Amino acid sequence: MTEAQDRPNRRTYQGSCHCGAFAYEIDLPELKTVINCDCSFCSRKGNLYVLTSEEDNFRVIEGSEERLTSYTFGPRNKIHKFCPKCATSMLSRMPTGPPQLKLLLNARAIQDIDIDHIGRRNIFNSKLDPQYLPPAHKGGMPSSIEGGQIYTGSCHCGAVTVALSCKPLESCEERIAECSCGICQRNACVWISPTPENVVLSGSEDAVGRYVLADGLTSKIFCHTCGVNMSSIRNELSEKEILELTEQDLQDYRRGRAHTPINARTLHGVDVGRLKMIVIEGTAATPCRLHL
Ligand SMILES: [Zn+2]
Ligand SMILES: [Zn+2]
Ligand SMILES: [Zn+2]
Repeated sequence: MTEAQDRPNRRTYQGSCHCGAFAYEIDLPELKTVINCDCSFCSRKGNLYVLTSEEDNFRVIEGSEERLTSYTFGPRNKIHKFCPKCATSMLSRMPTGPPQLKLLLNARAIQDIDIDHIGRRNIFNSKLDPQYLPPAHKGGMPSSIEGGQIYTGSCHCGAVTVALSCKPLESCEERIAECSCGICQRNACVWISPTPENVVLSGSEDAVGRYVLADGLTSKIFCHTCGVNMSSIRNELSEKEILELTEQDLQDYRRGRAHTPINARTLHGVDVGRLKMIVIEGTAATPCRLHL
């Protein structure tokens, strides 16, 4: 029997963070399902996992695992690793776990997986972390809106928190969007877009990570400690830069600055699985269109 017949459905998968600082290859049986965990961390990050014990087939081809930021919580038996520059979750490890849980890859960072259509197996680890209490918002409160509601939220570790006012999210009066670009897909963000005066984002300068996209127009805001994505902002331009914009670019700039999108996954008591969303079309290769 040839090797191909012996191992009929194996293939090489490539995984990478959005900025490209970390990339790997792994040879695995063809992936048919991924694991969707509902714990306090995974529900914020939106990670979908590929479990494997095939450590020998895992090859880092760019960067190094040591340079990823590690985050752990609760019983500290799982180590979650993300890129410190772009906050893409790459992998988790459970050093003292059973063989199939030693290496867990975030399927959202693996190319050539149709993430919206691959099978999902739900696991309910939220039942295992009853000790997790969502961190309280540490900043001021936003102005309220008529018929609106105040939501508070946080990253997982609590270093970055948010409060916002908007229409009740289940009412379908708010625009709730998933963006198909490479960074929003990797981070599984679910965007609501309140106006700036209706959002208070709180966190020290050291706590907040800013990943500026290649076009220089947009920054994704995340927690340096736990890697949870909080917000997306249209970068502020200087007066001189504004004067140099074409009329169309100026309109786009003003429209982008008129909203401060917040990742609904960070809001306490909100189950994003129950929200009605629109999809901002795009591909992994197209720029993020959230602010257009
Ligand atoms: Zn990166
Ligand atoms: Zn955090
Ligand atoms: Zn996007």
